[in-house]
Amino acid sequence: MNIYLLILGHDIHFHDKKIALLEAGPRKEYDRMPDSYSNRVSSISPGSATLLSSFGAWDHVCSLRLKPFRRMQVWDACSEAMIVFEKDDLDYMGYIVENDVIMSALTKQLDAVADRVEVFYRSRAVGYTWPLSSYSCDTSPWVQIELADGRRLQTKLLIGADGHNSVVRKEAEIKNIEHRYDQSAVVATLHLSEATDNNVAWQRFLPTGPIALLPVR
Ligand SMILES: Cc1cc2nc3c(=O)[nH]c(=O)nc-3n(C[C@H](O)[C@H](O)[C@H](O)COP(=O)(O)OP(=O)(O)OC[C@H]3O[C@@H](n4cnc5c(N)ncnc54)[C@H](O)[C@@H]3O)c2cc1C
Repeated sequence: MNIYLLILGHDIHFHDKKIALLEAGPRKEYDRMPDSYSNRVSSISPGSATLLSSFGAWDHVCSLRLKPFRRMQVWDACSEAMIVFEKDDLDYMGYIVENDVIMSALTKQLDAVADRVEVFYRSRAVGYTWPLSSYSCDTSPWVQIELADGRRLQTKLLIGADGHNSVVRKEAEIKNIEHRYDQSAVVATLHLSEATDNNVAWQRFLPTGPIALLPVR
C-alpha cells in the first residue's frame, strides 16, 4: 500500500490534494537489518527496481539488504527438460528482497513527501458511510470513515489498498472470486554447508507442487 501513496505523493495531478494513509499496524523501519532473515521475500525485477529508484526508495533497499541473481533455472520433475534465463556478467536478472526491507525503504521515503502525505499508524478503519446516490436529496460527495479509536475522517476519493481481506471491498459490496487449492507451503531459510556464489534462483515443478530455492545472501 505504501508504494501507491508514494506514487500519489509525487503525482502532479495530486499536488493540491491532502492525502492520508491509514495503516492499522505500527511504523516499521530499520536502520540495520537483524542478523536473521525474514521468510517473506519478493523477487524484484530490474523494472521494479527502477520504479523504486524513481521515488528514492531503492537506495534505502540497497543500504539495508538484498541479493541480486544472474540466473534462473526452472526444470521439470520427470525429465531433464529445463529452461534457463541468464544475464550477462554486467546485468542482474533481478533481486531477492525481504518484504520488511521494501516496507522500511518505502516508510523512510514517505517522510520525503510528508507535506503531501500524512500517515496515521495504528489507525484501523472499521466502517464506511458511502455518499448517497444521486437520486437522493443528500448529494454530499464525502465518504465517512470510522476508525477503531472513534475518530472519523472524510474524503472524496477513497482508495482501498487494505489487503486480501479488504474491508473496503466488503463494505462496498464488490464481489470477488476465491478458490481453495487445499495446499499448504513451507517457507524456510537454509544455511548452505559450502561456500558458493549463490546467485541462481532455482525452481522445480514436482507432482506435489513446485519447490524453489532463492538466494538471499
Ligand atoms: C510468503 C509470501 C511471499 C510473497 N512473494 C511475492 C513475490 O515474490 N512477488 C509478489 O509480487 N508478491 C508476493 N507476495 C504477495 C504480496 O506480498 C501481496 O500480493 C501484496 O503484499 C499485496 O499488497 P496489498 O497492498 O494489496 O496488501 P498488503 O501488503 O496486505 O497491505 C495491506 C495493508 O493494509 C493494512 N490494513 C488492512 N486492513 C486495514 C484497516 N481496516 N485499516 C487500516 N489499515 C488496514 C494492513 O496493515 C497492511 O499494511 C508474497 C506473499 C507472501 C505471503
